[in-house]
Amino acid sequence: MSQVIIIGAGPAGACLSLILSQRDISVTLIERRRNFDREFRGEILMPSGFEALMQLGIDEKLNKVSNHSPRQLKFFLNKKQILEINQKEVLGEQSIKAISQVDLLETLVKECKRYPCFKFYRGASMKSLIKEDNRVNGVNFLLDGGEKKEIYADLVIGADGRNSIVRRQCNLTAYEYNTPMDIVWCKLPKPQDWHGASAYAGQGNLLIAYQSWDDQLQLAWVVLKNQFKDLRDEGIEAWVELMSDHVDPVFSQHLRQNTSFISNQFFLNSVSDCVEEWSIPGAMVIGDAAHTMSPVGGQGLNIAMRDAVVSANYLVPILKKDPLNLKNLDEAIKQIEADRMNELKSIQYKQSIAPKIMLNQSLLGDWARRVIALLIKLPFVARVLGKINNDFLYGKIKIELIV
Ligand SMILES: Cc1cc2nc3c(=O)[nH]c(=O)nc-3n(C[C@H](O)[C@H](O)[C@H](O)COP(=O)(O)OP(=O)(O)OC[C@H]3O[C@@H](n4cnc5c(N)ncnc54)[C@H](O)[C@@H]3O)c2cc1C
Repeated sequence: MSQVIIIGAGPAGACLSLILSQRDISVTLIERRRNFDREFRGEILMPSGFEALMQLGIDEKLNKVSNHSPRQLKFFLNKKQILEINQKEVLGEQSIKAISQVDLLETLVKECKRYPCFKFYRGASMKSLIKEDNRVNGVNFLLDGGEKKEIYADLVIGADGRNSIVRRQCNLTAYEYNTPMDIVWCKLPKPQDWHGASAYAGQGNLLIAYQSWDDQLQLAWVVLKNQFKDLRDEGIEAWVELMSDHVDPVFSQHLRQNTSFISNQFFLNSVSDCVEEWSIPGAMVIGDAAHTMSPVGGQGLNIAMRDAVVSANYLVPILKKDPLNLKNLDEAIKQIEADRMNELKSIQYKQSIAPKIMLNQSLLGDWARRVIALLIKLPFVARVLGKINNDFLYGKIKIELIV
């Protein structure tokens, strides 16, 4: 029997597994995929996520994880550049990075394996929670070879992402933010002289393009909700044509010339929600399982890792006590939720505003974007926008691992 079972070796589950293992708390981590590249994840690491990662005490190994930090950030409205920011000048060393999730997660689980109290089932799917006397005390899971297993623990943590089975089995209800958009993700070869990230807004569309960790250009084509079927039916040439019509002439030509090299297409159904209560006795959820993040502002990876650090702060002192007091443990998991809600509510609310302006296809929307483009150069407006961005960049609160 482990002290803790964690379902899902995404950023939340892998980080929390490592922190607990480092403190000699026995952890069983269950991940349904054999390979991390089978699950598409966000790869934007903000200073807020970097802050969480650096608390793991493995800086040297983490610094070797493949990443790329875009030098120039450019903003276009109706194909005209309205702003250019040099990341280093504005953010200093704490820059935004595109990071290889596969590399990051492999590094984290490899580090976990150094601790004898850590056990990892890779290619194993959790199927159901086990309960006794109204308390969760274990899980049933299935190995990819077909073998069924059951294991027991003092606490089960669902870090199993946006379609969390733990969330469903605990009957946790969520409130949902209206997210009017979906996203087409894909990669293509990078133009030779491309060194940063560009965002193209206008006519109710948005295209984000950045140089990623693998030296490819990562594209995110933001479309209004429920357009996927049309886009799939029309085929790749049709939506490349739409994107090309939306950007400056040089990039437009590059897109058209490289249509046949487009790879890693992924249609992301954008969701933003948060469960009202994160736990029941013996089980809790963190990361996307607790609050699926909208892609706006590249927050999901970062918030998931921050959840892990805060969770450890509450769990470690209780789990280290001998004998363990289950009532105190259930109390601690409630405090994790209370602690995280402040940052989450604020960030999810701010994420919900941008698409309303960016994707508004009415004349009013066009007018609002033009006004913002004009006002953005005024110090007062820049300060207000900077404040919103600060939460996206650094988080709303300081996160520190204190155990
Ligand atoms: C296409 C896309 C683009 C995104 N872009 C960004 C971005 O640019 N920046 C950003 O910060 N965020 C982005 N996100 C969001 C980000 O990927 C997530 O918020 C983040 O990965 C959440 O981490 P997590 O650990 O909570 O869950 P996940 O990363 O989803 O990990 C959950 C893990 O649980 C496993 N699992 C699920 N069910 C089971 C089960 N029954 N048994 C065992 N294991 C199970 C899954 O295989 C998975 O490995 C994006 C997401 C997607 C899908």
